Amino acid sequence: KLYNEVQDLKGNIRVYCRIRPFLKGQSQKQTTIEYIGDNGELVVTNPLKIAKESHRLFKFNKVFSPAATQEEVFVDTQPLIRSVLDGYNVCIFAYGQTGSGKTYTMTGPNVSSPEDWGVNYRALNDLFHLSQIRRTSFEYEIGVQMVEIYNEQVRDLLSIVYLDFHTLGIWNSTQPNGLAVPDASMHSVTSTADVLELMNVGLMNRAVGATALNERSSRSHSVLTVHVRGLDLETNAVLRGNLHLVDLAGSERVDRSEATGDRLREAQHINKSLSALGDVIFALAQKGQHVPYRNSKLTQVLQSSLGGQAKTLMFVQLNPDVESFSETISTLKFAERVS
Ligand code: ADP
Ligand code: MG
Repeated sequence: KLYNEVQDLKGNIRVYCRIRPFLKGQSQKQTTIEYIGDNGELVVTNPLKIAKESHRLFKFNKVFSPAATQEEVFVDTQPLIRSVLDGYNVCIFAYGQTGSGKTYTMTGPNVSSPEDWGVNYRALNDLFHLSQIRRTSFEYEIGVQMVEIYNEQVRDLLSIVYLDFHTLGIWNSTQPNGLAVPDASMHSVTSTADVLELMNVGLMNRAVGATALNERSSRSHSVLTVHVRGLDLETNAVLRGNLHLVDLAGSERVDRSEATGDRLREAQHINKSLSALGDVIFALAQKGQHVPYRNSKLTQVLQSSLGGQAKTLMFVQLNPDVESFSETISTLKFAERVS
């Protein structure tokens, strides 16, 4: 019953668009969002230029307007998250330029206030509650890993031992359901409080070695992996599912004439890994025979939750500023290609 829901592969890739509001105290800028329809339609325009191509329509599974709350966004994400308890692998990631609201959607602006919580905390919270009431004949164990991928190196964010960068191996298909997980520390969690504590450790470790947290966090991918193991107490059968929650590096193009040295190297790595992710999802949507997982660390880490029976959700994050128009278009083109 649990595994036989064979869906059309394309049906396993969902794309939601979320537009962040103009921030308080920002001088009122012109918006590039002309229209948001009920059926996931979005019309984008550049109010400063009357060009031939001034209006463009994009379609998503869903569009969240700037007024959408964290709770509203989560409600539409919840069924996907819950399917992890049925043994599905799920990947949820936020894509967009720096400042478009990726961290807001995934983590939230303020961890101490539950109504601000992003998808990460709400997902874990929901999984705990559900795993306790869902099936009395099942016993669930939940483990968490958190890694950062920077310049094609994977760093364990929850290890107290390795605060320096080093390249972690990727475990390959050693688990019964073929999951590949990074060789990073696994932490068993039994409550939302445990998760909050771990994620704070992760966020603090992320800041180590970085001159400015924001700067660095916009140039690395952070991946929170939730492993769920369910034991059927009647039959002793074991069910496993995992959930990848990913805050991607900013997708903005870096001016090659200005970037040099480290900055250029970072930009090249980000570019490479984001295109590798796009290529993987594109291949999956096309039902391609060959899915190029091995082209980046990011796609290797996420492999178990991309493709096959796995379910994938991409949040396409937009900054409605007119100054962000060209990045908005390039973000939407990325989304268009994979949806
Ligand atoms: P990113 O992670 O993509 O760089 P952030 O999540 O840090 O972007 O968002 C940039 C700024 O916009 C932050 O100050 C954040 O609090 C604010 N912000 C983003 N999305 C929203 C939203 N939906 N509602 C209110 N503020 C938001
Ligand atoms: Mg961020």
